Amino acid sequence: MSRYDGVDLRLNVPHSARMYDYYLGGFTNFAADREAAGHVLASASWVREAARANRAFMHRSTRTLARAGIDQFLDIGTGIPTSPNLHEVAQSIRPRARVVYADNDPIVLTHAQALLTSSPEGRTAYVEADVTDPGGLLAAPGLHGTIDLTRPVALSLNALLHFVPDARGAYELVEFLKSVLAPGSALVMTHITPDFAPEEVSRIVGIYEAAGTALQARTRAEFARFFDGWTLLDPGVVPLPHWRPDPDEPPVPAADAAGYAAVALRP
Ligand code: SAH
Repeated sequence: MSRYDGVDLRLNVPHSARMYDYYLGGFTNFAADREAAGHVLASASWVREAARANRAFMHRSTRTLARAGIDQFLDIGTGIPTSPNLHEVAQSIRPRARVVYADNDPIVLTHAQALLTSSPEGRTAYVEADVTDPGGLLAAPGLHGTIDLTRPVALSLNALLHFVPDARGAYELVEFLKSVLAPGSALVMTHITPDFAPEEVSRIVGIYEAAGTALQARTRAEFARFFDGWTLLDPGVVPLPHWRPDPDEPPVPAADAAGYAAVALRP
């Protein structure tokens, strides 16, 4: 039996998770994904660098929060597994860390095994859920069996909310998720912006929309609004390669990531 049995992967239609996998040099992508991703790279060759910079931000922000004492993580829009995954980064610092992954793409589900290789002391779970139904996502049994929402959680929404336009309730869903997290919880986000390379980003938006995926690039102020009421960690809202960069890594110019990052704590 194929592990894809019973799951409609819609392989003839490009999908954001598989296009992102292609930018990262992964192998979980198909002809339609490669064609659309190829158009994106022809418009903006820096997108590969941006995808790598986005993963590197996940590593740095996860390490920062684990070192600060957070031992529960909820990663929504987790993507096709890419080594190291968030639990490997978190558990390298806190072996007892508990991590819940969520995504709405069935192909991520078929690879969920790679997300479930927890340390013996910790625990991981995978939930198939849509961020536009945050109540349903939080009610998933896999989530409750793994993390305790009365204690601080690091919620990451990396490279996710640009797929949720304002009209689909992006701000409302983030406020809902923020409202159920305990004081001391963290909100971690990255997001594509038109601020550095407006023409190229506008072409990218067009390619995703032609492929049937809504994409809304947001300005710095629009991105910062997601963190309203929470306390931003230094250095605040910055181009994503500039969030606490690793001194050993070569610097990535802001325009080569065309995205913002920030981490904030619930007071
Ligand atoms: N967070 C990862 C992957 C980003 S790619 C990273 O930053 O490296 C965006 C992911 O969001 C894809 O896996 C896609 O399937 C998922 N996604 C898109 N819309 C979603 C939605 N409405 N609900 C849940 N996941 C979604």
